[in-house]
Amino acid sequence: MLKIGCHLSSSKGYQAMARMAVSIKADTFQFFTRNPRGTKAKAINEEDVEGFLRSANKEKIWPILAHAPYILNACSKDEGLRVLARDTMADDLARMEHTPGNMYNFHPGCHVGQGTEAGIIYIAAMLEQILKPEQHTVMLLETMAGKGSEIGGRFEELREILDRVTLKDHVGVCLDTCHIWDGGYDIAGHLDEVVTEFDQVIGLKKLKAIHLNDSQNPLGARKDRHARIGEGKIGFEALARVVCHPALRGLPFYLETPNELDGYAKEIHMMREAWEKG
Ligand code: FE
Ligand code: FE
Ligand code: ZN
Repeated sequence: MLKIGCHLSSSKGYQAMARMAVSIKADTFQFFTRNPRGTKAKAINEEDVEGFLRSANKEKIWPILAHAPYILNACSKDEGLRVLARDTMADDLARMEHTPGNMYNFHPGCHVGQGTEAGIIYIAAMLEQILKPEQHTVMLLETMAGKGSEIGGRFEELREILDRVTLKDHVGVCLDTCHIWDGGYDIAGHLDEVVTEFDQVIGLKKLKAIHLNDSQNPLGARKDRHARIGEGKIGFEALARVVCHPALRGLPFYLETPNELDGYAKEIHMMREAWEKG
């Protein structure tokens, strides 16, 4: 069965997210661990988490994907901001231990003039500090559009970060279809070649999740503006081929399209239909 969900608001807690997921026939979801533009987090509500774990088990809602606040920059020039990114993500990983066996995704960061290599070193150094042998969460580096000085617009950059991490089983990659399209990887015209390139540079076994988004902009635009499925430049047919690709079929897919719940329900239905047709 196709494992698919969407980004949901975490403001009402875990059980509320599980209910929303069930209501739109999703069997997974993504959520922000805290305000995406800030670093404050609500305390974990044990009762809510316990209730969630029961319904997640019953409804087979797993693995869920947490997303780090996108303002964090692990490779900032400013040491204080690097420390903030490190401490916030370390705290998120500790919180994730309440719901073991899931995944935590983050944007690698922006090197802002220091150069890609310097950025890569900072990001890997942070991972070395926060990953713990005993943790039960896989931390994912997201593929980026390569906007500005963003790291992660090329598969090679993510590979270099992963190479520098000791606890290899605790790290992986989340591929965002809008981002890699904007980064110049032609998943509409040459999906097989892109999948092969990912495999050769990073290795498909490191690929743990897909952000399924259309893009408002043409191939290589380096913009990062998501569109609804079929309303962007990638198109429905191409995204259906991504979901059905033999090398990607077993992965969890997460919609981050500009939608309310009913729009997500429609897109989940469209993708399930496409998946069943193969
Ligand atoms: Fe993201
Ligand atoms: Fe994404
Ligand atoms: Zn994006």
